[in-house]
Amino acid sequence: MTLGSGKNRLKIKGKFLAFFSIMPLLLATALIRVPCPICGGSGSVSSTGMEGVRISKIESSTQSTSLQACANYRLYNMEITMTLFNSGTRDADGFIDLYLLNYSTGTILDNEFTVEIIPAETEITDTFNSYFKVEVDTTGPVTVTAAVEKSGVACKACNGAGKVALNAWPFYNSMKANFTETQRIFKPYVAPVFIQPEH
Ligand SMILES: [Zn+2]
Repeated sequence: MTLGSGKNRLKIKGKFLAFFSIMPLLLATALIRVPCPICGGSGSVSSTGMEGVRISKIESSTQSTSLQACANYRLYNMEITMTLFNSGTRDADGFIDLYLLNYSTGTILDNEFTVEIIPAETEITDTFNSYFKVEVDTTGPVTVTAAVEKSGVACKACNGAGKVALNAWPFYNSMKANFTETQRIFKPYVAPVFIQPEH
């Protein structure tokens, strides 16, 4: 009986020891910053082959609008269908800037971007959803316009800092293979608190 509880006490002591030696390790790996595997530490990701790409058609429709963050801003969920043509001789992989415009005044309300891959000498059509943040009192119809980004944009994995926490590095590194998916995953999206369709 006494021997048994003594053994248990030893086991618990072991667990505590493990906890107190692993916790500082975990904390340390969260604090140590290492170069971002997605952008290679540069903080920006560049488009390649986008100089031969042009947007031949873009259509958009409002799916829903909702008030966010205690009515601090309004979130527009836009469905966008875009046709892109790559006249270049190499495959293009890069960013398209998206602008949400007030339909009647042409004022830019917000901008976003998406990533596209367009094979050489090919036309593609892509339909996707994008989220835009606008002022709470924005009313009236809106539309989306787009432009090909020929240089590069801030890396979404490290927010342009060029460095990530050591404990997050394996996560980003495992996604490195698919550049498009990585940059799409980190597209800012705020889950709607409530959806209130307005037209
Ligand atoms: Zn990065």
